[in-house]
Amino acid sequence: MTHPAPESPDPGRPVVFRNGIVLTMDDARTVLADGDVLVVGDRISAVGPGLEVPEGTQEIDARGGIVMPGMIDTHRHMWQTAMRGYGADWTLTQYFVWYYLEHGNKFRPEDIFAGNQLSAWESLEAGVTTTVDWSHGLQTVEHADAAVDALQSVPGRFVLAYGNIQAAPWEWTADPAVRSFFERRRSGSDDMLGFQLAFDVTGDPAFPEKDAFEVARELALPVTTHAGVWGATNDDGIRLIHENGFATPDTVYVHAATLTTDSYQRIAASGGSVSVSTESEQSAGQGYPPTWQVRRHDIPVSLSMDTSVWWSADLFSAMRTTLGADRSREHLEAHAKGDTVTHVHLRAEQVVDWATRGGARALSRDDIGRLEPGLKADVVLLKNDSSTVSFPLLNPYGHVAFQAQRGDVHTVVVDGRIVKHEHALVGVELPAVRRTVEATVDHLRSALGEEAWAQGMNPEMPSDDEVLDNPYQYTDYKSDSTRGARGTVFGEPGSG
Ligand SMILES: [Zn+2]
Repeated sequence: MTHPAPESPDPGRPVVFRNGIVLTMDDARTVLADGDVLVVGDRISAVGPGLEVPEGTQEIDARGGIVMPGMIDTHRHMWQTAMRGYGADWTLTQYFVWYYLEHGNKFRPEDIFAGNQLSAWESLEAGVTTTVDWSHGLQTVEHADAAVDALQSVPGRFVLAYGNIQAAPWEWTADPAVRSFFERRRSGSDDMLGFQLAFDVTGDPAFPEKDAFEVARELALPVTTHAGVWGATNDDGIRLIHENGFATPDTVYVHAATLTTDSYQRIAASGGSVSVSTESEQSAGQGYPPTWQVRRHDIPVSLSMDTSVWWSADLFSAMRTTLGADRSREHLEAHAKGDTVTHVHLRAEQVVDWATRGGARALSRDDIGRLEPGLKADVVLLKNDSSTVSFPLLNPYGHVAFQAQRGDVHTVVVDGRIVKHEHALVGVELPAVRRTVEATVDHLRSALGEEAWAQGMNPEMPSDDEVLDNPYQYTDYKSDSTRGARGTVFGEPGSG
């Protein structure tokens, strides 16, 4: 259903958020207890209490809410959103088999479009105003055009990180059609759409990825790469990138989990940043979510959600899980030495910083990620008067990191334009988006066949997970939870 804004979201009309708690995320981390944010055109015009505004300005009552910069996700495989939730029980191994080896090549350009379009709207709904589409399903340039078409059909800010898991990076980057794609799609594109190259470095001593880095350099495209992924990429890749002179400040190292100090030092020295996908690292097995390491090396951090084939796609989850993982590790490291942590190092303010400024830093965008006059107007209002979680609002950073969720995203402005208002996306035709995704699901399901479809979603259970003997158990009684409930509903395809 199309949701018209209660007041016309006229792009030319100024907007003011009134009387909210304002998290500016400026250098001084100024927090206004009762502030306004004025948007004129595509820019933030003023931030402060009791602002004078131009006649005809649309007023948004932010009382009881938090006004903050739009969030930035630096690594999402948006095309995979067409398979939302399918891989909830996967490890990285099942993921690789499904997408890389067996079924990822069945995605047609329209399937890339379907996933990207849904994912793009989903980002905006969750207050994520800039998303990097880590698009590694681009088998042909037609797929790439479909990806960009989808991103441009949605009023958010996006970066297409061009990739292709069906070919080696030095092969597909050498394709003249790829080069002409960039010429075509970059010409005349504005700051709503950016580009990167997305590929991984295996650690092969011959460094065959060198040619792909040369193309990136020639086309002035930053490289984003899955690094420090257990069983896939390791220290050798980082060393090769660094020794060959391709470790630059705009290089983004995704995950960077299973790495040694040497790699973190190389990343830190070259000014690159790490994109942490905590929900992903915790489930898939790339390595322990690395913020507890990278923050000690003073490496810039941004947050990301990786893929909705497993996880959620909102940065509230990213902030929450990242705080939890970092603190878990800090406690465990201390316990191993017989110590007790009395004051945690990672604070809620820091993860809000990573979700906003950190993303802007990773993308070399000094004009987003903060609420300051003159910057691009990407603004989010968290406010939900009908929610029991909306009060008391005592610690704004803590509220964002641990209390808020996507349903609390009241209004979203991107580039000065209202794209979500009073909890409803503006201008989305959700039934049409749904139909394109359903067509993709139908296509994949019939291309795989029912058996492969069901097997892909239900990985085999390891056989060695028997319940251990318990000397305190005096009878043969077994509770429901130990009686093998698994298998009766979810384990057997078609039985649920
Ligand atoms: Zn990824």
